Amino acid sequence: MRGHAVDCRGNSPVNRAEMMARVAAHDRRWDMVVIGGGSTGIGIAVDAASRGYAVLVLEQSDFGKGTSSRSTKLIHGGVRYLQQGNITLVMEALKERGVLRQNAPHLVHDLRFIVPNYDWWEGPFYGIGLKVYDMLAGRYGFGGSRRLSRAATLQAIPTLNTEGLRGGVQYYDGQFDDARLLINLAQTAAEQGAVLLNYMPVTGLLKDGDGLLTGVVAQDLESGKQLRIGAKCVINAAGPFCDSVRRLDDPSVETMVSPSQGIHLVFDKAFLPNDTAIMVPRTPDKRVMFAIPWHGHALVGTTDTAIDDVSLEPRPLTEEIDFVLETASAYLAKAPTSADVLSMFAGIRPLVKAGAPNTASLSREHTLHIAGSGLLTIIGGKWTTYRHMAEECVNAAATLAKLEERPCVTRQLKIHGFHPRADDLGEMRGYGSDAGALDDLVRSQSQFAAPLHEALPYLAGQVVWAVRYEMARTVDDFLSRRVRATFLNARSAIAMAPRVASIMAAELGRGESWAAEQVASFTQLASGYMLSETQRQQTRPLKARRSTATGRARKRRPMRWRRPSVQKS
Ligand SMILES: Cc1cc2nc3c(=O)[nH]c(=O)nc-3n(C[C@H](O)[C@H](O)[C@H](O)COP(=O)(O)OP(=O)(O)OC[C@H]3O[C@@H](n4cnc5c(N)ncnc54)[C@H](O)[C@@H]3O)c2cc1C
Repeated sequence: MRGHAVDCRGNSPVNRAEMMARVAAHDRRWDMVVIGGGSTGIGIAVDAASRGYAVLVLEQSDFGKGTSSRSTKLIHGGVRYLQQGNITLVMEALKERGVLRQNAPHLVHDLRFIVPNYDWWEGPFYGIGLKVYDMLAGRYGFGGSRRLSRAATLQAIPTLNTEGLRGGVQYYDGQFDDARLLINLAQTAAEQGAVLLNYMPVTGLLKDGDGLLTGVVAQDLESGKQLRIGAKCVINAAGPFCDSVRRLDDPSVETMVSPSQGIHLVFDKAFLPNDTAIMVPRTPDKRVMFAIPWHGHALVGTTDTAIDDVSLEPRPLTEEIDFVLETASAYLAKAPTSADVLSMFAGIRPLVKAGAPNTASLSREHTLHIAGSGLLTIIGGKWTTYRHMAEECVNAAATLAKLEERPCVTRQLKIHGFHPRADDLGEMRGYGSDAGALDDLVRSQSQFAAPLHEALPYLAGQVVWAVRYEMARTVDDFLSRRVRATFLNARSAIAMAPRVASIMAAELGRGESWAAEQVASFTQLASGYMLSETQRQQTRPLKARRSTATGRARKRRPMRWRRPSVQKS
C-alpha cells in the first residue's frame, strides 16, 4: 500500500475535504486526469495509481451514479456472447470473473443458474452449450454445468411454471453488488495514491497553442468554485456521456455511442425463494433474461431499447415493464403483476456504434479512441472486464503522456474490503474487512444500532460510516449506492429518507433546511423507481400477458450456436 494517510481504524481516506486539499496541494500537472467515476474511470484510477502514476478522477455526480450501479449484478462471461460466437470476449470475461472473485471475495460470489427446459431439444442443446462455457473458463472455472431432472429443477426453483416443464440445465456464474464494488475500488485507488472527487463535473478542456490538451476545467458543485487542472493526459471515461465530453474537445465530432436502455424490476423474495437464479436464453426479442436472487429480493431483467437521449436518471418505459412482466409470467408459477413491483430501475449501455440497426447486436467490446488533441476516450465493455479495460487504457495513456513505462499490477491487487472468509460476516458481508470497524461504530452509540426501516436490514450507524469513510454527500448517495434501498424497495427508501437526512446533516455540519431539501429531492427521485398509477393502468392485464407469454414460449426455437470466430479485442 502506498504512503497515504490511513486512519486509526485502518480505513482508507475517502474523504472529500481531504481530497480537495490534495488537489490544492498538487503543484504540478497530473499524469492522468480521468473524467467519469463509473467502473471504467475508477478502474483506470486503481490501475494508474498502483503503477505509481499521479491520477485524479473527476465525477460530475456521485461515484456510480451512471450505468455502473444499474447493471444486472453479474460478473459473467456472457452466455449471450457465446451464442453470438464471440469466443474472445467470453474467454476474456471468464478470466476476469476468476480474477475478481480472487481479489474481492467479499463482493463476488458464485451463483447457481438454471435454464428451465420446456421443449425436448432444450436439455441437450443448452447442456452442450454450457459445457463449452465451462471449458472456456479453464482454470478460472466456477462450478460445473449439468442437466437436471424435472424434480431436481423444481427443488432448486419451486416457483417455476410447472406446465410442460421437462427439466433444466444448471451452470454457475458470478454475482456482485455493483455500487459497493465501485466504492471499494475508489477506496483501493485512494490507498494507492489516487485522488477522487465526486460532484465535480468537467465543463471544459484546456489546450495549448497547437491545440493539444493541457488539462481540464471543473466545477466544484459544493463550493461553486471553478478549478483549472493541468494534466499530461486526459481520459474520457464518461460512459454513455462520452460524446458530450468529446464535444468539449471538438463541437463538430460525430457521435461514437449508440445508447441503449435496459431495465430491471424488483420483487419480493417469495418469487424466487432459494439461492438459484433463472436464465432464459432466448426471449421473443432474442435477448437473454435473468431472474436473480439479490439482497433478499428477486431481480428480473433486462431489456435492450434504443434511446435518443442519455440522462443520469433514465426511466423504465411502459413497454419495457410489460415485456419483463410478460417474460416472468411465462416462467413463474405465480405471475408477478405491476402491483408486486417494489422497485424498478433503468441503466444505459454505452454501446460503440457499428452501424447495425438493432442495439442488441452492437459491440459490447470496448474501444479506445485518441483525438487529434490527445483526448483519450474509452467506451463500451462490461463491468466484468473493467480491470482489463483499465490496463489497456493506462498503457495507452502512459505512452501519450510520455511517462516512464511501468507494468500493470492489478491482476494480483486485493480490492479494499478483501476478506478470505467473507461468508462468516452475515449481513455485513459486503463490507468485508471493514465489517469489524463498522460493528464497533454501530456499538459505540445506542442510536447507531437502530434499524432505519423494518423492510430492509440497514442501521443508522451505516449512514455515519458512509459519510465518514465512503464519501456519501447526499441522501441519494447513501440510500441508492452505499446501501441499495432505492433499488430494492423504493417506498421503504422514501420512508427512511428523513432519518437518513438528519443523521447526514449532523455528520456533514449541515442545517435543517439542507435536510429538508434532501428529503424533498430524494422523494421525487425515488418516486421514479415506483410504478406510477398511470403506468400501472397502462401495463397489460395479467390474463393478456399470460396468453401472449405462453404463446411465445411455445414458439421458442433453438438459437443456433454460431461457429466460434476468434476476434481481436
Ligand atoms: C441494464 C444493464 C445491465 C448490465 N449488466 C451487466 C452485468 O450484469 N455485468 C456486466 O459485466 N456488465 C453489465 N452491464 C454493463 C456495465 O454496467 C457497463 O459497461 C459499465 O457500468 C459502464 O461503466 P462506465 O464507467 O463506462 O459508465 P458509467 O457508469 O455510466 O460512468 C460514467 C460516469 O461519467 C460521469 N460523467 C459524465 N460526464 C461527466 C463530466 N463532464 N464530468 C465528470 N463526470 C462525468 C457520469 O456521471 C458517470 O458516473 C450492464 C449495463 C446495463 C445498461
